[in-house]
Amino acid sequence: MMTLSFARPRSLPRSWLWLGLGVLVFAACLVGIFARPIGFLSAFWPANALLLGILVRYPALARPAAWGAAAVGYMAADLITGSSWGMSLWLNGANLLSVTVGWLLLRRLSEPVLRLRRTVSAMYLLLAALAASAAGALAGSGAAPVYFNSPWTDLLSLWFSTELMNYMLIVPVVLAAPRDDDPPSAVQGAPMFWRVAPVGSLLLAEGIRGLVGGPGVLAFAVPGLLWCALSYSTFVASLLSLVVCLWTMAGVAMGVLNFTPAHAGDVFSLRVGVTLLALGPLAVACASAARAETLRRLDHAVRHDDLTGVLARRAFMRQGQRLLTRYGRETAGVAVLMLDIDHFKHVNDQYGHSAGDQLLIGITQAMGTALRAQDALGRMGGEEFAVVLPEVSHAEAQAIAERLRDAVASQPFAVAPAGQTLHATVSIGLVHSASMSGEADIDTLLLAADAALYRAKTEGRNRVLTG
Ligand code: GH3
Ligand code: MG
Ligand code: MG
Repeated sequence: MMTLSFARPRSLPRSWLWLGLGVLVFAACLVGIFARPIGFLSAFWPANALLLGILVRYPALARPAAWGAAAVGYMAADLITGSSWGMSLWLNGANLLSVTVGWLLLRRLSEPVLRLRRTVSAMYLLLAALAASAAGALAGSGAAPVYFNSPWTDLLSLWFSTELMNYMLIVPVVLAAPRDDDPPSAVQGAPMFWRVAPVGSLLLAEGIRGLVGGPGVLAFAVPGLLWCALSYSTFVASLLSLVVCLWTMAGVAMGVLNFTPAHAGDVFSLRVGVTLLALGPLAVACASAARAETLRRLDHAVRHDDLTGVLARRAFMRQGQRLLTRYGRETAGVAVLMLDIDHFKHVNDQYGHSAGDQLLIGITQAMGTALRAQDALGRMGGEEFAVVLPEVSHAEAQAIAERLRDAVASQPFAVAPAGQTLHATVSIGLVHSASMSGEADIDTLLLAADAALYRAKTEGRNRVLTG
């Protein structure tokens, strides 16, 4: 599992972040400049895609100062490597225009789309990358006859294909880079073999590619990339796509292609081909992230009560049985509580059903604060709740039950927008696993706690009785 976590920009003063952005753009430009085949534009130009990805990922950063810092980074890299002012201004103006177009389009999208968790994410990214690349290429291509002594159409196609490839390979990596609230990937917790097999298949494809050769080798990595997209997080999958595609391109281009204007057509074809190669796994990664999120939401909805958010009956029973099996035989044991709100019908009758609902929510929140993290709280139906307390003695369980009762009785609950408040009480029946003969299951304990609850009701309510 990747544990790399990008520092949250919030934790640093913004001026430092802008400075950092300028330095990053500067460094990325140097990488691009040194990857530049002699005398012509770069094959690998990560600066624009990194800048776009960061500004879209951290919208609070995208202020004039950020654009200014980026502009200084672009210019500084060109000037210290010997470019003229005129050429630097022209080419970097085109770079900034391209990023601006991409940013204006992407910033309109919703967060889940930009976190690459929707099926449409990859398509929107492609459209924005196409527009941004076209804008940069159109603006920059006029420099060809002036500075490179070649027709502007050659530069147009080279610029467009390079931009498109860099945007499609790098922006997803930045957008999907790990965050604190990321869900686990599909292979997390799986046996080691299944965790390394997808990336292993990429290496295997590389070996086969070497044996087979020919123009088809471009697509040999596709099965491995798809497998990675289905197995790993979108971040890892897009990082692997970036590496594989750049590697593929370098390999195919080595000795076959010449990165000069005379071969602009071939270079254009190769770069667009590689870009489209990466689009498939990216779309699969986005779609599987969307599907996983839907399944998580469904699972949460099934397991939780939709009014109060506590465990629903079935999930509670399962969790309760699990706790009982695990701790029931230990010295401390397990206690089970049944709780019922006193005279709840009055609330509905007097204040309306919606006030009753709000009271239910308020009471569950109050009970939640009185419980420990390891306790399970479930709604058994209507205004009846149950609690499983693992690893408690009888006396400790009684103290917790008393705390619960008091948490409800000691505070008023707001039940109407006008600020109306109500007092409420609960009756509680308690049973401890040590008091049961033999090995009781959760149903038996709940039944015994229910009998104690019934007695608590008949003896006057707002009290804890033990079964
Ligand atoms: P007791 O002290 O004997 O428990 O009295 P009670 O009025 O609480 O008794 P009873 O169990 O008969 O009443 C429960 C009421 O809870 C009946 C039902 O209308 C109401 N109720 C059940 N579920 C909900 C709900 O989700 N929302 C609201 N507002 N009321 C509910
Ligand atoms: Mg009741
Ligand atoms: Mg009841």
